[in-house]
Amino acid sequence: ETGDLAPLDASLMTRALTKSPKAVPEFDGPEAKAQKTMTDHMVTVSWTVEHGWAAPELKPYGPLSIMPSASVLHYATECFEGLKLYRGYDGRLRLFRCSRNCARMCRSASRIALPDFDPKELEKLIIALCAQDGPRWLPKDQAGCFLYIRPTMIGTDSALGVQRPREALLYVILSCFPDMSKSLASPAPPAMQGQANGAAKASPGLRLIASSEDTIRAWPGGFGYAKVGANYGPSLVAQGEAKAKGFDQVLWLFGSDDYVTEAGASNFFVVVREKTSGKLQLITAPLEERMILEGVTRASVLDLARERLSKSEDGAEALEVSEKRFTMKEMIEAHDEGRLLEAFAAGTAFFIAPVSIIHFRGKDIELPMGDDNGVYARRIKQWLSNIMYGKQEHEWGVVV
Ligand code: PMP
Repeated sequence: ETGDLAPLDASLMTRALTKSPKAVPEFDGPEAKAQKTMTDHMVTVSWTVEHGWAAPELKPYGPLSIMPSASVLHYATECFEGLKLYRGYDGRLRLFRCSRNCARMCRSASRIALPDFDPKELEKLIIALCAQDGPRWLPKDQAGCFLYIRPTMIGTDSALGVQRPREALLYVILSCFPDMSKSLASPAPPAMQGQANGAAKASPGLRLIASSEDTIRAWPGGFGYAKVGANYGPSLVAQGEAKAKGFDQVLWLFGSDDYVTEAGASNFFVVVREKTSGKLQLITAPLEERMILEGVTRASVLDLARERLSKSEDGAEALEVSEKRFTMKEMIEAHDEGRLLEAFAAGTAFFIAPVSIIHFRGKDIELPMGDDNGVYARRIKQWLSNIMYGKQEHEWGVVV
């Protein structure tokens, strides 16, 4: 029944360029921190149930026009993606495993009754926008800088009835974005040490506070696996409370055994020495129950760990990689017995961020952050950044 509908087709894209290009702000400066500065252009594509996808338009960045009755404004028919465009040390612009973001966008869209499309066509639209704005917004002599890419889809159907949207809009915008990994990398200035607001301010690394029983991010049969706006709005109260107490992110727990699922908008990993076998394990939550967002960073950490860390090399002990449930009880026991070696968050925004503190039911689990700790997180981070910034040629780095 979809035979006559036009598919999403990037080759039909029209181009209208801005006559008033903006001044490009300094990388990681105040504009980036405010996250309100978008680049000069955007790509939009409209869809209707009768005709399918219209021709994509690359045009000046600006407001959208939708009706107050639009589906997205009432029923949260919205999904999005987040990835980055990197300026490499070889002067080239790269995306990192962009095809995975596009495939995930399709999975998210289908969870909220938004239309399907060929993820390869979205990838082409993202590349076209990056090729338009990337060269000027990421100066060639500033290796290591990046822009944040936000593909989005909304239901624009103006009928108020609770039903599948019959109209939708897909768009892609590029934003100046802060370097969040840098803000965590250095120890707090000495003046702040010891006079922490709550437990945590004195140490570098990500400071997490476990979610309480009345704030559950995702559950079996829900939509935690989908990158839909409906997952984020309801997390903001807990996130705001965490910040007010001096923590960076919420560690989302689930169920009566306090299963550790994700950290903020990142996946969560631990390196633990297994109690009986004595072997080192890299553990992260499994995908099967569909409560976890399948991070592109998560997949890449797992792939690299399996490929490069599963045999002992250069004096580093081998790691077993395990996607399985891990509970707070196991975390505390491993910590008390000296078997919890590392914890880190992995995602586009914070990249690979070692965790220094987990606050759980009035107690702090502290992870030492000295030079000898966090070795696995550090190695994986270096490998990934080598690919993103073109220090290692790799199929995951897609040159724009
Ligand atoms: N979990 C959640 C809930 C997220 O929002 C994100 C960010 N997209 C991630 C994990 C990490 O995913 P990625 O590595 O693709 O950025």
